[in-house]
Amino acid sequence: MYRVATIHIGQETNDFNPLPTTLENFAAFGIFEGPEILVQMKGRGQVGGCVDAVAASGIRVEWVPIISAWAMAGGRIDTTARLFFEERIGSGLRAAGKIDALAIHLHGACSAEGVDDVEGAQLGICRAVLGPDVPIILSLDHHANVTRQMVELSTAILGHRTQPHDVYDTGRIAGELLVRVLKREVKPVMAWRKLRMITHQEQFLTAAGPMKTWFDQARTMEADPRVLHVAPCPMQPWLDVAEGGWATVVVTDGDQALAEQLADASADLAWSMREDFMRKEAVSIDDAVRAADAANTGVVVLSDTGDTVFGGTAGDSNLILEAILRLGVKSRALMPLIEAETVAKLVAAGEGAQVTLALGGLVTGFFKPLTVTGTVRRILDGKARVPVFQQPEFDQGRTVIFDVGPATLLVSERSGAAGNVPDAYRAFGIEPSDYKMAVLKTASNFQFFKPISSQVIRVDTPGPGQSDVVTLPWNRVPRPMFPMEHPADWRG
Ligand SMILES: [Zn+2]
Repeated sequence: MYRVATIHIGQETNDFNPLPTTLENFAAFGIFEGPEILVQMKGRGQVGGCVDAVAASGIRVEWVPIISAWAMAGGRIDTTARLFFEERIGSGLRAAGKIDALAIHLHGACSAEGVDDVEGAQLGICRAVLGPDVPIILSLDHHANVTRQMVELSTAILGHRTQPHDVYDTGRIAGELLVRVLKREVKPVMAWRKLRMITHQEQFLTAAGPMKTWFDQARTMEADPRVLHVAPCPMQPWLDVAEGGWATVVVTDGDQALAEQLADASADLAWSMREDFMRKEAVSIDDAVRAADAANTGVVVLSDTGDTVFGGTAGDSNLILEAILRLGVKSRALMPLIEAETVAKLVAAGEGAQVTLALGGLVTGFFKPLTVTGTVRRILDGKARVPVFQQPEFDQGRTVIFDVGPATLLVSERSGAAGNVPDAYRAFGIEPSDYKMAVLKTASNFQFFKPISSQVIRVDTPGPGQSDVVTLPWNRVPRPMFPMEHPADWRG
């Protein structure tokens, strides 16, 4: 019988969203501790995948679940949240007694007020309690910013194999490696490379284009039985930290030289395709809205790239709404707006009220508030038993369905599923397939709308998640950095 501790904490930070992420944002999706984790995450997420893989192996493991928490991507986590998780990790591992391994599932691109590498510090606490010899299997979102601390403090690093992410799969491969390590079948060693590049998200899908080529290379390398895992890590393009940039990690069974050689090959391939990763597909807002209006069938997905809530923006952009109203579009349009101040005004007006107010841009200041007149259709409490990524439900705070001309706005205090999941609309009495177009606050996660959508149009909107990464106000990433500069190779 082995005793294995498990920890799962996920938040992706967007440094260009000024709104801090608090414990309330984690609580909105559920913070679970102790045995409750195994109940909530049964068959779900990285924890569920890992537990299932270990069970399937036949070895006997006593799980020591410590904490599982996830928040929607957003601004840096505040100090209270950072210290809360550090305390829970430390006290949980100290109380665990002797354990044989730790399976830890972190995002890898989380920063906090005054702290760039939140997860490196969390791993430091783990290592300090566990000592140098207990294996730590670290699985990351591949949009992580892999840091020196993460590599030095863990035994093996694994990353998601696809975008959109299959988080259960990542947990499963972590569980399979964990079993081999516990049985002493393998002894992982790692090599990693840091690349001086950050590219926009339009080429982030792994099903096509340069990202497919890069991830396919990783899978090919893994065909060699000496190679345990290869994790290409195209860091998400909104993290402004001192060690920022893409990375690649290769884990082999005791063969350091092979790991080093493959890490170079992985870095070389990504660098050779850097201009392909910068290829843009997004069209202007007016062109996108006109094309959606003219389409024969809906639902046309309009991807609001600059305000990608799944990429950590605030969800307060009004730019597509502005174009719909200005262009006199007649087709029905559905969109979320995440803005507590607007919710308060609409709630005060009450159901059925006609309201004229300025909305949008009130959270980030990135967008000019737009004065509109509309009708408050419904006021709801915002709780929905709808799974979003790793978590089983969410609470988006008070929520108002507000009709403005041909547009229906789902205005909420917190992100919830950010309008990216049809069932989230259905939970509030709206059927998305009744609409010609739907604004999605994501640039990659179109899979949820796929069953009801006719096409996806990427809209070239400005905002904290914009495709134009060159003009974002970078302060902390190392320079030179492609594409802001053009260093001679990936080493900078
Ligand atoms: Zn990701």
